[in-house]
Amino acid sequence: MIINLAYIIACVFFILGIKKLNKPTTARQGNFLSALGMLIAVTAVFFENDVVQSWNSSDWLRNGYMWCFAAIAIGSVIGAVWSKKVKMTGMPELVALYNGFGGLASALVAFSQFYNNPQGNDIISSAAIGITILIGALAFSGSMLAWGKLSEKISGRAIVFKGQNFINMLFLLAAITAVVIYAIPGMDNQIKFISILALSGISLLFGIMFVLPIGGGDMPVVISLLNSLTGLAVASAGFIISNTVLIVSGCLVGASGTILTLIMCKAMNRSIGNLLFSGFGSVDAASKKGPGAEPKAVTAEDAYMILESARSVVFIPGYGMAVAQAQHAVKELAEQLEANGTEVNYAIHPVAGRMPGHMNVLLAEADIPYEQLKTMDEMNSVMSSQDAAIVIGANDVVNPAAERDKSSPIYGMPIIKAYECKTVFVLKRGKGRGFSGIENELFSMPNTLMIYGDAKATIATLAGEFTVE
Ligand code: NDP
Repeated sequence: MIINLAYIIACVFFILGIKKLNKPTTARQGNFLSALGMLIAVTAVFFENDVVQSWNSSDWLRNGYMWCFAAIAIGSVIGAVWSKKVKMTGMPELVALYNGFGGLASALVAFSQFYNNPQGNDIISSAAIGITILIGALAFSGSMLAWGKLSEKISGRAIVFKGQNFINMLFLLAAITAVVIYAIPGMDNQIKFISILALSGISLLFGIMFVLPIGGGDMPVVISLLNSLTGLAVASAGFIISNTVLIVSGCLVGASGTILTLIMCKAMNRSIGNLLFSGFGSVDAASKKGPGAEPKAVTAEDAYMILESARSVVFIPGYGMAVAQAQHAVKELAEQLEANGTEVNYAIHPVAGRMPGHMNVLLAEADIPYEQLKTMDEMNSVMSSQDAAIVIGANDVVNPAAERDKSSPIYGMPIIKAYECKTVFVLKRGKGRGFSGIENELFSMPNTLMIYGDAKATIATLAGEFTVE
């Protein structure tokens, strides 16, 4: 009774936590509530299984809980140190890793159930064991590959070859066949063992094949999709061991991951099928084109003359702002502009940076008023009336090739229409390309002025100009 109550409380905390992640102002609280829910759930699991009684066991090494506590301690230390050390720009890789281990854990739970009882209780629970291994192993190997691509340990490009979709289909069919063979009641134990081993191998390979043809700007979407698959694996593992809290939390992760995947697909104007099977980022046609006209460069001091008389300025942050950690300097410049009578807004692209909400988190950290953070659609409708845009380390999300060049790998992705502003300042260090690795014609447009250098230093110089008098 008390255990069930604890599970219900944990689930309520998870739901409230997700709800509070909705806004930057309540996100921290949401994270805390979810973590608290997890603590309650884990504690309840131990009491449900009479940990106190088995604690009296004289053989410590044979006491399963000893191993659990040791694993929790080691995992907590690694998790805490890693999360503390990781840079904001490295968060997506970390999320991919955590996600992968979630998938692996679910597959191991299913495997242990098979090991303890190879024949299974009934066809449904056997099928659940097979499905958990399939999805969990797929999510694990796929997430590991996504981690390698995002952290640039391996090339982040999409790898496509002839007949890839057909081979993937064969992998899926083989995995389903292995699940069916395993689940048939009364089948010989040895055959069951072989089918589970084959299923594990096929699923691991399938995860790699699944992520291989995805690259470039589609990586965040695939991580979100893998996340929702891990949620399903967790829910299925909960079903196998009859643990309600695992079922509920797995469904929450699965549903929210699916919703996020669809939102991101919509933001990039791509269907999920097109994303998974078209090999985005493999065609490098646009990058092979020449860079076009030489961009015009100005100094921060020159830019000040234009900004000083601008009545409206829109900041367009991107990955480079995160690298430069320029958010506090941006706030300072915004305050100088406002004190000068300029209207200031921020246009946030849904996939700017390297994780969903990356820019919102950074700007919220610098206490930038939430009302000034405008969505891409809100800002695009008034872009032509803006006197100046300040593009801070953004590249792909303002690349007009997405609208105009059908051969471009990012064609079809909605962009922030910075080019419509009267003057566009682009702050970047040099001629580096964006995540998708293609040229950006915005930089050589007549109304664009480049200010080369680290974004934080450039913004600080600009803000400094306002105070000189
Ligand atoms: P981009 O990756 O397109 O461009 C970043 C730019 O920042 C580079 O051109 C670089 O140029 C510049 N830069 C880097 N460091 C600095 C610095 N210290 N100071 C100034 N400029 C700097 O970023 P966007 O935000 O425009 O686009 C995000 C891309 O990442 C999209 O393609 C998106 O799909 C993808 N993505 C998004 C994820 C998400 O969930 N948001 C996750 C994974 C990928 P230079 O080297 O010349 O300085």
